Amino acid sequence: MEERQIKPGTIILLVLLVIGTVAAALQIGPTMTLKNTLQVESAATPTPTADVRSMMAVTLPPGVTPQPTVMLLKPGVEGDEVKKLQSRLKELGYYTGEVDGQYGPGTQQSVMLFQAQHGLDDDGIAGEATRNALYASTAQVYIPTPAPTQTPSSLSKGAEGDSVRQMQERLKELGFYNGECDGDYGPGTQTAVRLFQSQHGLEVDGAAGEMTLGMLYSDNAKQVTVTPTPDPNAPPLLVNRTHKLDDNYQPGDLVLLRSVLPESVVYVKGSEIEGDRTAVAALETMFRAAIDDGIGDWQISAGYRSIAYQEKLFNNKVSEYRQQGMTGDKARSAARKTVADPGTSEHHTGLAFDITTPGKTFMGTPQQKWLHEHCWEYGFIIRYPEGKEDITGFVAECWHIRYVGVVHSIPMRDSGECLEEYLD
Ligand SMILES: [Zn+2]
Repeated sequence: MEERQIKPGTIILLVLLVIGTVAAALQIGPTMTLKNTLQVESAATPTPTADVRSMMAVTLPPGVTPQPTVMLLKPGVEGDEVKKLQSRLKELGYYTGEVDGQYGPGTQQSVMLFQAQHGLDDDGIAGEATRNALYASTAQVYIPTPAPTQTPSSLSKGAEGDSVRQMQERLKELGFYNGECDGDYGPGTQTAVRLFQSQHGLEVDGAAGEMTLGMLYSDNAKQVTVTPTPDPNAPPLLVNRTHKLDDNYQPGDLVLLRSVLPESVVYVKGSEIEGDRTAVAALETMFRAAIDDGIGDWQISAGYRSIAYQEKLFNNKVSEYRQQGMTGDKARSAARKTVADPGTSEHHTGLAFDITTPGKTFMGTPQQKWLHEHCWEYGFIIRYPEGKEDITGFVAECWHIRYVGVVHSIPMRDSGECLEEYLD
């Protein structure tokens, strides 16, 4: 817009520049359009063609110096006037390059910054209005625009915006997140954060605090380690006191139960309880069938537990006993009686769940009877049955079920074998 107020002197120079450019275009190749040539020139940051300078030299009468204010400074132009422009831009903080008199992309960029900050049309061309503003005493120093997203020190479920989106993108890049990067810290993002935390030795709470964000954006952030959902036809995974899971074991497809299971079907006791996607789908089918049979009021009290979380539970118990005066060894063996040794709990697989009914002891309820009779039809087994304690190594737990898939659960029901016997 500012370039419309052109003084007569400018027109002469403009005409000369156009002639020069046309001449340059002809030199480069007759098939090239003028537009293409200009693009090539600005992209390559050339010095002006010799033609322009020689024509200026011959056309302008000796002793007549072009008035700086009328000369159109733009990419490709070079000379003292450009130097002057660069020095002034540098002085004000817009330009950080060399004052070399070459109107390259760096100069163009700083002119655009100057123009934007002064309410001028930011075309990167230093015309009259731009230079008037630039050399005026009221010219402002460069104020850098703040980075588009400032990383807050913590984010948690319910948060929204660019910093959440940025976090989702980073989690996705590392393979922890496969949802949409929509800037919405929902259950899926929370699950991804938990997975990231558990694989980086951080406290697993699903909230991205200072430690989690610090690790996430650091060079120490690792790619996800995924343990795929077991093949339903392969033998079920055995986890017990003698078959410990590897410390890095991490189910690859966990879902937050509350985000998947409708409350009308089952009440999930904790908002953070997770489980393997396939197993959770089987739970829903099973509970719907129970409701059809007239048995409702189901509750899930436990699901997936990371080894790190189990370690925390275990260590808390140990220190509780040590405070009571026990030695380390005694405290550990006492803790083992109530809290499973990290790595030995089936809950690490994401395939085990504790099923209860709210406010009651589960044993003897209609829910318990229905579960023991029918869970097999949906791929679940009663993992620690009565009478098998010596083999499983666990006291009977009527509430603990384990998903193995119907390929295995039906034969196990029919043979009456526990998992150790079945796999033998
Ligand atoms: Zn259990």
